[in-house]
Amino acid sequence: MSLAIDRNTDLKKYNSWKIGGPADHFCLPQTIDEMIEAVEYAKDLRLPITILGSGSNVLIPDSGLKGLVICTKKFKGLETQKTKERFVITAMAGEPKFSLAKAFIKENLPPGIFLSGLPGDVGGGIVMNAGIAEQMTPREFHEMTDWVEVLRDGQIIRFEKSQLQWSYRHCLGWEPGIIVRAGFSWSLADIDKTIKDKAAMFAKTRKDRQPLEMPSCGSTFVNPPGNSAGRLIQDSGLKGYQIGDAQVSLKHANFLVNLGNAKASDFVALISHIQKTVKEKFNIELKTEVKFL
Ligand SMILES: Cc1cc2nc3c(=O)[nH]c(=O)nc-3n(C[C@H](O)[C@H](O)[C@H](O)COP(=O)(O)OP(=O)(O)OC[C@H]3O[C@@H](n4cnc5c(N)ncnc54)[C@H](O)[C@@H]3O)c2cc1C
Repeated sequence: MSLAIDRNTDLKKYNSWKIGGPADHFCLPQTIDEMIEAVEYAKDLRLPITILGSGSNVLIPDSGLKGLVICTKKFKGLETQKTKERFVITAMAGEPKFSLAKAFIKENLPPGIFLSGLPGDVGGGIVMNAGIAEQMTPREFHEMTDWVEVLRDGQIIRFEKSQLQWSYRHCLGWEPGIIVRAGFSWSLADIDKTIKDKAAMFAKTRKDRQPLEMPSCGSTFVNPPGNSAGRLIQDSGLKGYQIGDAQVSLKHANFLVNLGNAKASDFVALISHIQKTVKEKFNIELKTEVKFL
């Protein structure tokens, strides 16, 4: 076996909240063959598998994760080409979104804007149908995704975009399995020489509005239809509210930040307190965007 499997790996450095206990078994495959090896290892030992991308949208419990954690941080690779009409990217699941952003910006194409400043990897972007609230085209992953390849039972299965069900912060129809690669494209008819400046401006606006200097998982709650989770939390008087070292950000109320030594249990308690308070005040149930692993 060429793939290294570690034991008792601290997962704090593998998630953006910097929380959680260790992984019983942990690996960082770099190729599809190593990904297959990882799955075989888990199968032989009858271990459950958890997939981690950049860990920018997950809550890892203080007790850690049993079984095998497969992190795609080193599962990288990106190729570009042009057809007569489209700019086409093929990316491995662990390629960071900013690589896609850079490739689109280089070609002066619009997906470069919304991708600028979106954390995490390609795989997590598809699972979450990651996107932004601002009205622009495109603003969600599904708009530029052509196909997704999934490793399932030792086989690579390709799903065309039309075979998947995309909705706000969800993509279904590809599971079970591990997303290993995806194809993206955009029309060359939309070339706009101001894309680079627009992307830089967009990234700056995010920096001004969001506490990017602190560990968080971005927006903790999805926006209820026609409403803003951040606004509801702010209007409930919860900005700055704190449990342990887990705090409702003073800059953006939908961001819960780690002031230093927060535990996963602090965030779980804070999330539940926010949900209860918003329900009492506005009779609205806030649903979490962050995935509890
Ligand atoms: C500061 C900050 C700002 C953010 N802003 C935004 C924003 O504007 N818009 C937005 O949509 N999100 C935002 N997020 C949330 C997050 O970055 C996105 O959801 C991102 O797409 C998650 O990618 P990831 O690689 O970190 O996935 P992870 O958090 O590692 O995983 C997310 C889920 O996907 C699964 N998964 C990951 N990779 C694979 C794979 N290859 N195969 C199968 N399953 C997989 C995991 O098991 C988990 O369930 C923000 C986060 C932070 C920290």
